[in-house]
Amino acid sequence: MREAAIQIIQKLTTAGHVALLAGGCVRDMLLGRDPKDYDVATSARPEQVVKLFPGAKTVGAHFGVVVVRAGEHDFVEVATFRSDGSYSDGRRPDSVTYSTPEMDAERRDFTVNGLFYDPLANKVIDHVGGQNDLKMGLLRAIGVPAKRFEEDRLRLMRAVRFATVLGFDIEHATWESVCGLADKISSVSIERIREEFIKIMLHENRVRGFDLLVNSGLMAQILPEILALQGCEQPPQFHPEGDVFVHTRLMLSLLPAQVSLPLVMSVLLHDIAKPATQTRDADTGRIRFNGHDKLGAEMTSTIMRRMKFPNDVIEPTVVAVEHHMTFMEVKKMRTATLKRMLSRPTMDDELALHRVDCLGSNGKLDNYEFMLAKREEFANAPLVPPRLVNGADLMQLGWPAGPELGRVLNDIQTLQLEGQLTTKEQAIAWAQSQRPG
Ligand code: ATP
Ligand code: MG
Repeated sequence: MREAAIQIIQKLTTAGHVALLAGGCVRDMLLGRDPKDYDVATSARPEQVVKLFPGAKTVGAHFGVVVVRAGEHDFVEVATFRSDGSYSDGRRPDSVTYSTPEMDAERRDFTVNGLFYDPLANKVIDHVGGQNDLKMGLLRAIGVPAKRFEEDRLRLMRAVRFATVLGFDIEHATWESVCGLADKISSVSIERIREEFIKIMLHENRVRGFDLLVNSGLMAQILPEILALQGCEQPPQFHPEGDVFVHTRLMLSLLPAQVSLPLVMSVLLHDIAKPATQTRDADTGRIRFNGHDKLGAEMTSTIMRRMKFPNDVIEPTVVAVEHHMTFMEVKKMRTATLKRMLSRPTMDDELALHRVDCLGSNGKLDNYEFMLAKREEFANAPLVPPRLVNGADLMQLGWPAGPELGRVLNDIQTLQLEGQLTTKEQAIAWAQSQRPG
């Protein structure tokens, strides 16, 4: 990738143009990180770029961007130095004009994203003080922060995202502007907000990102239900750590560095219905949250649909929220119930959720360890093997279709899972013994 980008720069330079690596890849290279992609900025106009690289696509031609193929699956974006015109929609410039490297740096969002690198001369070109901020670990808006966040409000989320993934502090005036303008994030499409939110939550520094979202006021716009967890008291014998917000945040901090999206979303949302279901016993004052798992599953679905998460992320998250309380009862469950539970495709994430739920409250992992031991115990055979008999088998013996048939089939499976029925003949004999009349 890097080699391909440098070759493109070589070719543009030989043809008499200025061409430089630009933006995120320069930042990442200077930080010693592996850039995701390499972007080239050049004085060549899009039509000149296309002429030099036959087959290049002018996808964003009106923004001066040409995509050059750099390998079977790799592409390098070659963008003409430009300045953005006025912004009237709070997201995209109304027009762009081709300009100089200096002006191109100034249209970018943060100083550490505004650097160029000339790979032929091995020289960093810094018009915005980005190198110094990189050294200090500071995220600073280029120019007047409030103006830059006003023109493109997605930058509010990008500020939190870059501070999170780079582990940088946010420079004072930049942070003040993020806080002051946080409520304007609502004018950005939920898809774009969600993509930034996901990057923040999937990164191992997610607690820092969570704090920045809450403290800036962005969380109140994106996921106000999280703020309702603040001050929601819990019984101290089960939750010595504090209220539901403290518990949820603590769980985030206990997750492994790498998590799936459903897992981190289920941590955020598993107790989201506690404020709505909280009751206190009249005599003892004991706090309860009856049904918070079921209502929580419904709220999780509503919230994630609102944020337009795809169904294959929503569904496993809802399953995990809905069942998170059942882990408290696993030691009392019959074998068939345990096997059915362990066979859920979401079980790895459900176990990981339960683990941090315990570690983020009373610290007792006995139910978690019990489940791991059971999984081990059941490991040498399929958890839920093919059924011994099906509905057609029983109907051939004269069973009428209907709920009674469904019940007996379920009972046969339960006995099969518990090892009490092992052959088709046994299963049929047992069914016949249950036959009403
Ligand atoms: P990532 O690691 O996520 O790719 P990146 O810095 O490369 O980070 P991109 O979104 O790929 O970010 O954008 C590339 C560059 O384009 C940025 O470094 C920045 O200079 C500029 N840029 C991107 N989005 C914006 C924006 N909304 N406002 C101003 N400049 C932007
Ligand atoms: Mg990038």
